[in-house]
Amino acid sequence: MIFLEKPQNWQCSFDGSEVIESGSCLNFFWMLPIDGEIEHWGQTYSFTENVAVKATVVGDSSAFTVDINVSADATVPCARCLSVATLEIIRDFRYFYRPLAVAASFEDVEDEDLVLVQSLDEEIDISDQVWESLIISLPEKVLCSAECRGICPFCGRVRNKDDCGCSGEAIDPRFEILADRKQEDRDNVPGKGGNQSGNSKK
Ligand SMILES: [Zn+2]
Ligand SMILES: [Zn+2]
Repeated sequence: MIFLEKPQNWQCSFDGSEVIESGSCLNFFWMLPIDGEIEHWGQTYSFTENVAVKATVVGDSSAFTVDINVSADATVPCARCLSVATLEIIRDFRYFYRPLAVAASFEDVEDEDLVLVQSLDEEIDISDQVWESLIISLPEKVLCSAECRGICPFCGRVRNKDDCGCSGEAIDPRFEILADRKQEDRDNVPGKGGNQSGNSKK
């Protein structure tokens, strides 16, 4: 399943009146299930477990500061060799929640980290901000390892396990086609023994 928006079953809210009454920091914790893929940066990030979310909330009836910590594990094709690379997401985000009536008197209502709610003295749902945080946390490039040697541009093999033996010099694509034809010619020789794998070291 590909998620184009946050999973329907995410329950991620707290009681704002509790925060206002306590007068200090309150911590909340959720495990949000995600079993499927997210498409981003032109690639597919696969999730099989939960997104662990911690939120630290402080404020009064006119404003809340919500620090969100998002952590999750995913897999994504390695940017160099396309094999499965693991990705560990751990990121912190800060959002400001304000009631509409109060926010209208502030200059910074266009602030992208500002979330407007009807009132802070009620159930505050932060699942949209958690989803946004998760998407922002997806890196454009992930490598299977820092030493990944990628795919050989000449023979197309992944070079991490063994060296394919290509020289590393640029091949003119026209010669590449010629080389393919020659290989085909050799493959088509009748009665050939079949030991010719095409791996000949140059
Ligand atoms: Zn790789
Ligand atoms: Zn090669």
